[in-house]
Amino acid sequence: MTLMTADAFKDSLRRMSKRVFMFGEEIKDPTDHPVIQPSVNAVAMTYELGHHPDHEALLTAESSLTGKRINRFTHLHQSTDDLVKKVKMLRLLGQCTGCCFQRCVGMDSFNAVDIVSDKMDQALGTNYNLKFREYLKHVQDEDLVVDGCMTDPKGNRALPPGEQADPDLFLHVIDESKEGITIRGAKVHQTGAINSHEILVMPTRSLKETDKDYAVACAIPADVEGIIYVYGRQASDTRKLEAGEIDVGNYRFGGHEAVVIFNDVFVPWERVFMCGEYQFTGEMVETFAAYHRSSYGGCKVGVGDVLIGATKLIATYQGVENASHIKDKLVEMIHLNETLYACGLACSTEGVKTTSGTYLVDMALANICKLNVTRFPYQIASIAQDIAGGLLVTMPSEKDFSHPEIGPLLEKYLVGAESYPTEWRQRILRLIENLTIGLGAVGYLAESMHGAGSPMAQRIMLSRLTDMEHKEGLAATIAGIKEK
Ligand SMILES: Cc1cc2nc3c(=O)[nH]c(=O)nc-3n(C[C@H](O)[C@H](O)[C@H](O)COP(=O)(O)OP(=O)(O)OC[C@H]3O[C@@H](n4cnc5c(N)ncnc54)[C@H](O)[C@@H]3O)c2cc1C
Ligand code: SF4
Repeated sequence: MTLMTADAFKDSLRRMSKRVFMFGEEIKDPTDHPVIQPSVNAVAMTYELGHHPDHEALLTAESSLTGKRINRFTHLHQSTDDLVKKVKMLRLLGQCTGCCFQRCVGMDSFNAVDIVSDKMDQALGTNYNLKFREYLKHVQDEDLVVDGCMTDPKGNRALPPGEQADPDLFLHVIDESKEGITIRGAKVHQTGAINSHEILVMPTRSLKETDKDYAVACAIPADVEGIIYVYGRQASDTRKLEAGEIDVGNYRFGGHEAVVIFNDVFVPWERVFMCGEYQFTGEMVETFAAYHRSSYGGCKVGVGDVLIGATKLIATYQGVENASHIKDKLVEMIHLNETLYACGLACSTEGVKTTSGTYLVDMALANICKLNVTRFPYQIASIAQDIAGGLLVTMPSEKDFSHPEIGPLLEKYLVGAESYPTEWRQRILRLIENLTIGLGAVGYLAESMHGAGSPMAQRIMLSRLTDMEHKEGLAATIAGIKEK
């Protein structure tokens, strides 16, 4: 098998035996749990579109490792065209799901680990890249979802791992044997973790020699002994437990995050891709971050398309679509959204071939992309809320609309422009609520801020990647200063 179907993906999750906690209870069958199921549907779309004749060129690629046709989410980028196709694929999926479809963290991790393991091998004579590529062949052949597991809990942010009050606040190696290593710690905010077949662990920050036990990259099956998942709750999540669909806003799709706890988990050596090489931790973090920062120039734009469409519809349902300020605000939304896409494409077309053969995005432009993502979706959401009006946050529940006595009264008083059913207004307002305040705002807003690193991380990278001396030289030359 190299291209799994959406149904086969769901069945493959059902066969796993993960320990998952939610709302204070251990849950059975997470794949079919009503709170988690929309997020399974969103990942399933990454499989479904791979079989769609209009989309297979974007969703699939020829494996550089085996020559087989594989899902692009498991691919090592072999050209700038591959990098561009990735961004386009993510926009398409954002448009089809209106949420975070979770599978990209793993894809971005593969490419980062491939590049950095090759550099380690060249500098230190290790054999990490060979082991990693054998592992990736397995992922490609089985068409697996892999949780890219980077972010540690971090405790006191001012202190490095070894100086924390509790040494487990960063994931670390606690034992090494002939067979493998044992790791302990946790990873937080893990996107799509409960929908994953595998976990790919990476260090969360640049490390010094004193912290080399924390310099670890490795892969483990997601249901291996010692792993516990705790579902991260989202605003309005229990609406998914109510009968009905309108109040959820986007009842078919959604994202999820989880805390993943590693209680002394054993990893065999063939699945270890970094163990103690602290000198390469900074590069692994920066390379992964650059890829994931470029990914946001696709996925957030696709979700932005959905929000812009919803805003135009609500303006129409409320009879204001022809007002000049509404038209202008819609243009502003488009401008902001397409600027993000332009950044995603720019860092991809300016990508470069690395020594492993895998193409890496332009790091500076990828950081610009993400820095804009920390702002523009908030501005787009603000315009959507402006045009939606106050009913966005004061509308009675779906159950009230179907009540025999008050339902008809709500239909009468909450109608907008006369040619549109009140229910259409209700549905679109709930979708805008989902994306700007509720469940979907996790992926569209908070994740835009912190996912792939908080804004300061991008600013630090930009100050490091910019050749300021060159710019000073340009100015000095034009101003006629010979020896600046
Ligand atoms: C929805 C969502 C999905 C995510 N998905 C994933 C995922 O799939 N995999 C993964 O590995 N990670 C994931 N992340 C994690 C993401 O990368 C982190 O949230 C991000 O790196 C910020 O880390 P933090 O949340 O611990 O916040 P903090 O690091 O605590 O940052 C909070 C604030 O403190 C500032 N700050 C932090 N440290 C310092 C310091 N030393 N000095 C001065 N200021 C400091 C920051 O600049 C920021 O303003 C996700 C996050 C979100 C919100
Ligand atoms: S935030 Fe975007 S890039 Fe990251 S996993 Fe979700 S959909 Fe993919």
